[in-house]
Amino acid sequence: MKNIASIVADIAEEMRGMTDRGQVANYIPPLACVSPDRFGIAVVMADGTVHAGGDAEEPFSIQSVSKVFSLTLALGMIGDALWSRVGREPSGSAFNSIVQLETEQGIPRNPFINAGAIVVADVLLASGTPAEAIAGVLRFVRGLARDETISIDASVAAAELATGYRNLALANYMRSFGNLMHPVEQALGVYFHQCALAMSCRQLAMAGRFLAHDGRDPATGRCIVTPQRARRINALMMLCGHYDNSGEFAFRVGLPGKSGVGGGILAVVPGTASIAVWSPGLNAKGNSQLGALALERLAARTGWSVFEAA
Ligand code: GLU
Repeated sequence: MKNIASIVADIAEEMRGMTDRGQVANYIPPLACVSPDRFGIAVVMADGTVHAGGDAEEPFSIQSVSKVFSLTLALGMIGDALWSRVGREPSGSAFNSIVQLETEQGIPRNPFINAGAIVVADVLLASGTPAEAIAGVLRFVRGLARDETISIDASVAAAELATGYRNLALANYMRSFGNLMHPVEQALGVYFHQCALAMSCRQLAMAGRFLAHDGRDPATGRCIVTPQRARRINALMMLCGHYDNSGEFAFRVGLPGKSGVGGGILAVVPGTASIAVWSPGLNAKGNSQLGALALERLAARTGWSVFEAA
């Protein structure tokens, strides 16, 4: 195997030359303005070494990747009680689908589809006002990445609020089943702001390190979650992290991963590395087209698929 630094550099170079880059999300107006020719990758190894390439330092809207961090916080607050309000099964449906909520009594299939993440945001409101809950998410992510410059792009949150009719429908529908405890505007306020977190690949990969190391931040030794919880979050990422494209992502890449419509993907190599990739062009299922391709190549060249025998 070539060394990891040259594998990352090669992949960044290969992605630069790609012409078929997918479509930038346009249903959230500020995301439609991002140039599709961006590509970034950052790989943080267990010893803290970072291998980065392309636009790895440029902040982008992490969107649904934030659901990993909000889930971690909510589990810290109410533990397994969360699972009476959110399921743990892949949905096989689009990220913003409403159909299963009717037959399943307002209980979303998993915490990574929009409906599930809105319930998780509702749980976070137990910590205080919407502003306090949002500040708690920001503080958590900054602490994980050890980077106080990470911020929330208020214009993205405002645009989602102005155009988020589908998410409003999901929230109202779940509230009708009694699965939201707070006013829908409050749960959505938290949800839209967490989605509007702006982070670079380097910052995102740093923030995901605890998932690669049994719940512990290897830099400080600090326990973020128990080993069992880290493994379970990874299991959910593997099975549900790419919506109705999760099977395809597991098939091609073989790593737990969470995507967002901003074009970011956080992927975890247990025991070895935390990886973030970003390319804003999406495939038909709303996942970064080049991001997935880059991870597929990275896993193939490093042998990092969790299904590969050591
Ligand atoms: N904020 C986006 C939405 O609610 C997140 C979707 C995604 O990243 O998949 O539509």
